[in-house]
This record gives sequence, structure tokens and C-alpha cells, in this order.
Amino acid sequence: MDAMNWFRLDGRRALVAGASRGIGLAIAEALARAGAETVLASRNLAALEEAAARLRSEGCRAEALELDVASRESRLRAAEAAGEADILLNVAGINIRKPMTDYAPEEYARIVETNLTGLFELTQAVGRGMIARGRGKVVFIGSLTSVLGLPYASVYGTTKAALAGLTRMLAAEWGRHNIQVNCIAPGFILTDLNRQMWQAPEMREWLKGTQPIARMGAPEDIAPLAVFLCGSGSDYITGQVIAVDGGFSTTSVWPFEPAR
Ligand code: NAP
Repeated sequence: MDAMNWFRLDGRRALVAGASRGIGLAIAEALARAGAETVLASRNLAALEEAAARLRSEGCRAEALELDVASRESRLRAAEAAGEADILLNVAGINIRKPMTDYAPEEYARIVETNLTGLFELTQAVGRGMIARGRGKVVFIGSLTSVLGLPYASVYGTTKAALAGLTRMLAAEWGRHNIQVNCIAPGFILTDLNRQMWQAPEMREWLKGTQPIARMGAPEDIAPLAVFLCGSGSDYITGQVIAVDGGFSTTSVWPFEPAR
């Protein structure tokens, strides 16, 4: 067998929830280019239509679908409209940065509804079809906060740690249905979600001095692992939280150099 077949997604249908920009768009493009019939979903239908048309002009199969994951009605409708998805990429996510003591109940509810409840119910709806057909790949986009603490994102981090837990629980429950469930934990990836925070020169300097791969990530750094986790090459991998973070979560770098 050609080793590249482990990464091919021909004959598979993929639903990417949160595909209009950033990490989700890069993943949707990569899945489509790997051969999957790809449904790009989020609230911004115009951006999705444009991305899907661009992919079709390359010869890929791609379509746009409106989805507000924070609305039960919208997510159930989208799950139905997406048809028989073999692959579900749960990318949609929002954050509000502030001290834990300052979150208003509506802010807490909005983040939890989008990042956790919405994705839970979308996965229920799409997962039923996967179970019926006896195959599937589910990939959650977690975060560094799935595995470690960072300041001023307590609600976001709570939802992302919960996604890591859900990944393991579903992997255990759905393994017998030939469905693999994994979670990618991106590190510091420059997108609309955090662009403002990373404008501070001291933030960039801090990253350079701390992280072994001393640069910020790009959405395209996340996409290859997503493709791998959706292809047959990952059929024996499930329940994992895999960091794509330039080494941040496992290593530390200091300026000391030993005398020679
Ligand atoms: P982004 O550029 O802000 O993209 C967020 C995506 O989520 C957009 O496509 C957005 O689409 C979608 N989305 C948000 N709310 C939604 C809703 N209610 N319904 C449907 N879609 C919704 O941010 P990003 O950095 O690419 O983030 C993507 C994922 O990666 C998030 O889960 C984030 O937590 C995670 N992540 C990012 C980083 C990072 O450093 N950037 C690190 C770790 C994890 P619409 O606005 O069109 O709805």
C-alpha cells in the first residue's frame, strides 16, 4: 500500500464546525485537499461560501453550511443538513480574557454554550450516524489550557479541559463502533482570537525566551495533524490529547549556556 494512502480522505465526508477563518479554515482546506468532501460550517456564511468556492476551483469538493453552535436549533439543523459525516472537526471556540472574579453570568454562559455544550450536542447528533454506519473520526480542538493553567481565561480553560475529558470518555465509549476520538491542543497560534494580546512586544519577547521553537504558530501548523487524525493512519490512536505547541507545554528554555 502506498504510505500516502494513510493520509488520504477520498470517499469521506467531513463536517468542520468553525471553518470560516483561523485554525478551522486551515483544517477545512487541508481536509478538502486530502480528498474529503468537506462541509465548512459557522455563522459567517459569506466567508464560508467564498472559501468553499475557492476550494472547488482547485478541484476539491467543498460546500458551506450555516451553523451557530451556541444555538440548539441551529446545531441540530446543521447536523441534519450536513448529511452522513464520517469526520467531525469540532473547532468553534470563543474566549473572553479577564480575572475570574469579573466574569458576568452571561459571559460564562456564552463561552460554555459555544465551547462545550454546543460541541457536545453537535457530536451527539453527528455521532449517532457514525455509530449506525460503524465508522468515524472525531477531533476536538482543545488548547494548552486543556492540560495546564494560564491566567485570565478561567472559563475558556474550564471548557477546554472538559473537551479533553470528553475526548477520553468518547474514545472509551465509541471504540467498539470503530470511531476514534482525539483532541489537538494548539499552542500560541496567531489568529483573530488572540491577535491583540500578541501585539504587546513583551509577550513576543517572553515567547522567544521560553519556547524551544521560538516563534508563534500559524493555523497551517495545526492542519497536518488534523488530516492525520482523520485518515486510516491513525486508526489505532484514540483518546489522546496531542499538543501542537512548539514544545511549550512540555519543555522550558533558559538563557544559561555552560562554559566550554
Ligand atoms: P478564530 O480565528 O477566532 O476562529 C474561531 C472560529 O470559530 C471561527 O471560524 C468562528 O466562525 C467559529 N465560531 C465561533 N463561535 C461560533 C459559533 N457560535 N458557531 C459556529 N462557529 C463559531 O480563532 P482560532 O484561533 O482559529 O480558534 C479556533 C479554535 O482553536 C478555537 O476553539 C480556539 O479555542 C482554539 N485554539 C486557538 C488557539 C490559538 O492560539 N489561536 C490556541 C488553542 C486553541 P464564525 O465567527 O464565522 O461563526
